[in-house]
This record gives sequence, structure tokens and C-alpha cells, in this order.
Amino acid sequence: MRDRCTEETEVGPALQEEWGRCRCELSRLHDGDHAIYLGIAEGEEGFPEESDWGFWDDRLGVLTVRSLTDCKTFDAREKHSCTLYQGHPGHHSFEIFDPVEVALQAMADQMRMHVFGPQVNEPLPPL
Ligand SMILES: [Zn+2]
Ligand SMILES: [Zn+2]
Repeated sequence: MRDRCTEETEVGPALQEEWGRCRCELSRLHDGDHAIYLGIAEGEEGFPEESDWGFWDDRLGVLTVRSLTDCKTFDAREKHSCTLYQGHPGHHSFEIFDPVEVALQAMADQMRMHVFGPQVNEPLPPL
């Protein structure tokens, strides 16, 4: 399954203000716990190689934070690396599509078409 996991969690009180409800970033039907990216790990500046990830279990509903090395798999076509952690289950981030984002993009394209006509390659005018 190449679409994104749709599981959400309410993160712990300390992170709630900043993150609110979070959606899992792994691909659908992955093994193990769900995961969200929290930020660059402490002490990792400049060229960070480690990031903090929050993991949660459907049953327990607790979030565990772990610092993990970034996944280094590079997508030559899109020219960027996978944004997940090393050893993550399921597909790499660049192989996953988010059904919510796809739907929003389609809606935006349709509105643009409606307002500006079929010159879809034109840059959007400033607001
Ligand atoms: Zn998940
Ligand atoms: Zn990866």
C-alpha cells in the first residue's frame, strides 16, 4: 500500500500545544507502532543526521520519543532523501502519497481552472 497511514493520535500534554492531533507518517498497513516526526534531535545542528520521532501504540495510546538516524535512501528522480528514520517499516516517504493532500491538490487545481481558465502552468498571482 503506497498511500499514507491515516491513523491519528492525540499527543501528550507537553507536545499537544505545538502538535495537536498528529497523523502517522508511515505508509498504510505498516508493521509496528505509528510514527510522527517531532524535529531535529538535540545537539544535531548544521547537518543533522538524527531526528526525534514519536511512536505510539494503538492500544496503549502512549507516545514514546526516540532519537533515530535519518533514512538515507535517496530518490534520484525527485532529488531528495526519504524523510523517515532508518529502518522504518513500509515504503520510503517519496513513495508514499497522502490521499488527503492529493484530494486538496485536485480541489485547488479545479478552483484555479475555474477562476483563471486552463492556463494551469502560469504561476499563481500574489494574494
Ligand atoms: Zn501508522
Ligand atoms: Zn526511507
